[in-house]
Amino acid sequence: MTTFSFEFFPPKTAAGERTLWNAVRKVESLRPDFVSVTYGAGGSSRDRTVALTRRIAAETTLRPAAHLTAVGHSVAELRHIIGSYADAGITNVIALRGDPPGDPQGPWVPHPRGLTYTRQLVELLRSLGDFTIGVAAFPEGHPRSPDAETDLRHFVAKCRAGADYAITQMFFDVDDYLRLRDRVAAAGCDTPIIPEIMPATDVRQIRRFAELSAATFPEDLAHRLEAARDDPATSHRIGVDHAVAMADRLLDEGAPGLHYITLNRSTAALDIHRTIHASRSLSVH
Ligand code: FAD
Repeated sequence: MTTFSFEFFPPKTAAGERTLWNAVRKVESLRPDFVSVTYGAGGSSRDRTVALTRRIAAETTLRPAAHLTAVGHSVAELRHIIGSYADAGITNVIALRGDPPGDPQGPWVPHPRGLTYTRQLVELLRSLGDFTIGVAAFPEGHPRSPDAETDLRHFVAKCRAGADYAITQMFFDVDDYLRLRDRVAAAGCDTPIIPEIMPATDVRQIRRFAELSAATFPEDLAHRLEAARDDPATSHRIGVDHAVAMADRLLDEGAPGLHYITLNRSTAALDIHRTIHASRSLSVH
């Protein structure tokens, strides 16, 4: 069974809210397996994540997955947020450590009464109820890991603590994904790793995301997008074609699903999905 899912983030403005809901309704008509809502670095954006996730659960037929990070939270606060999701019937949570607010590459400082690694958040979720738990995977290795072996060991430990599935960081080279998947399998871990599909339609934006997440943005793709930077239709086509080619190969290689980044605008993600869907029979359940 191959799943497909979409990722949204909580918007800051009324206009952003309208754009988001337009995208949510289009995605809803496709009956994806789930949609996820990212968790902000702090304050009001976190409240917006909780509110948006609850609203999706209450007002749509979609199954929302709430991202949750350990940044700046005590264990008591995490318990409270998890409880409020459970009260709203939201049982799919993507557990993450998060990055330090301000400078994502800065030193990681845990909350004095909080958690240090995602594995502990997975254990906390498992102890609190019957959650479906997702975790993050890094095809190019987590930027803070000293080497690939250590990275693999900690990833497998996080999965064994109770993760049901993993979603990758954005990547542009399918071989990076396949290497990770095969090394995880060789370590005896069968947690499905769902590749994240990022439509690269805006070169400036993707360069910024790649920098923040330490993902490699291939130069040939960057050059083609640079050449078309003042031509939105061509940029869109380049990004969609690249993502379709990646998604096709990933599915040929047995990837368990595709998780599309929407950036709250459904156009590119839906174009990719429709092209893939037209040539394959992706499950809907
Ligand atoms: P962990 O699994 O805790 O790993 C962090 C580092 O610690 C790794 O280097 C790991 O190897 C190491 N490590 C783990 N266990 C140990 C141990 N016992 N001893 C020593 N080292 C250890 N960020 C947000 O703020 N909000 C979001 O909504 C969000 N969504 C995301 C969704 C996806 C699909 C992905 C891939 C990332 C997302 N992120 C989000 C970013 C994520 O929070 C960061 O990439 C963060 O740096 C890594 O989190 P993690 O859950 O992988 O951490």
